[in-house]
Amino acid sequence: MKPFEVYPLYDIEPVKAQGARLWDKQGREYLDLYGGHAVISVGHAHPHYTARIAEQLQKIAFYSNAVQNSLQEELAEKLGRLSGYESYSLFLCSSGAEANENALKLASFRNGRKKIVAFNGSFHGRTSAAVAATNDASICAPLNSQHEIIFLPLNDEAAAREQIDESVCAVIIEGIQGVGGIREPGPGFLQLLQTLCRQHGVMLILDEVQSGYGRSGDFFAHRRAGIRPDLITVAKGMGNGFPVAGVLIAPGFEAKHGLLGTTFGGNHLACAAAIAVLEIIEKENVLAQVGTTGEYLLGKLRALEGIQEIRGRGLMIGIVPGSDAAQLRKKLLQEHGIFTGFSADKKTIRLLPPLNITVAELDRFIHALESVLKPQVTATQH
Ligand code: PLP
Repeated sequence: MKPFEVYPLYDIEPVKAQGARLWDKQGREYLDLYGGHAVISVGHAHPHYTARIAEQLQKIAFYSNAVQNSLQEELAEKLGRLSGYESYSLFLCSSGAEANENALKLASFRNGRKKIVAFNGSFHGRTSAAVAATNDASICAPLNSQHEIIFLPLNDEAAAREQIDESVCAVIIEGIQGVGGIREPGPGFLQLLQTLCRQHGVMLILDEVQSGYGRSGDFFAHRRAGIRPDLITVAKGMGNGFPVAGVLIAPGFEAKHGLLGTTFGGNHLACAAAIAVLEIIEKENVLAQVGTTGEYLLGKLRALEGIQEIRGRGLMIGIVPGSDAAQLRKKLLQEHGIFTGFSADKKTIRLLPPLNITVAELDRFIHALESVLKPQVTATQH
């Protein structure tokens, strides 16, 4: 047997990682401005994180959700406190798509409806309803198109007013669109969505899978708008590489035995990893650090020539270069050993580094970017 080839692969095999750096089989060092797709939050191989998981592994790694597991309560308590959602409940699962799928199900269980409002440029995962609510027909199988979804332009208040009514089950929106190219719903738009949802009994789901866990400098990107969504989904940075995800559920949703379920969700190892991440975020004041380094990075980027547009905040930044973005990424990787991300339309370079990346490491990236942008700036001047 061989792997089913669904991923275009770099010809690089990282075998070691530390903080924001990786090393391949040949010992070449790389700088990680991609975080393995926004997953690495507290840095590769953080000593507290590895120790916590190793310690748990020695005790008990897994048992099913049929027994008491106080690690789940510890995780829920910490996540509630750090995110400002103490009164919410937590359902644990293992991936972002699974979290969104369960959030959509909860919304539908709650109001008995099925029409979903999502947005142009959205990405919510690849399971049935999550992929249907993803604005990319190329990854939606005929089986998934049974769902009733309407896509609205992001930040279009008139469209939201027109479409959100009693016929809608849920509105699902990313705190900051990631795959869509780092595009943020304005605070006023999120407030309007909340008002319309409350007015018509529609559930508001904030997908914070990529933009959450401190990536924006706030624990959740939507906090800036001062809204309280009905459901919030988390994954990626939650486990710093360990597959763990969750749905934060507002009071008012009634839990019933058997309503939701999953074999792996909330297992002992996953909880240990997720608790370790929160302990590091709290102890090392990671959110404040992201605010500072994010501002520093934005300031340096704005001073560079050859960039058309910069979007985002914290350590979730999109750069639209004036020249071919794919070519620039290739050069950054091949000539400077720097991993970056890409948007679905291949026009925006996405920066999603570990949240504790240092200023010196960001300087290394800025110098590299400046040098790969330079020949292109000169070329367009002639
Ligand atoms: N939601 C958002 C905003 C994402 O960016 C992603 C993945 O990129 C997902 C959901 C799906 O997460 P997963 O790949 O863990 O299923």
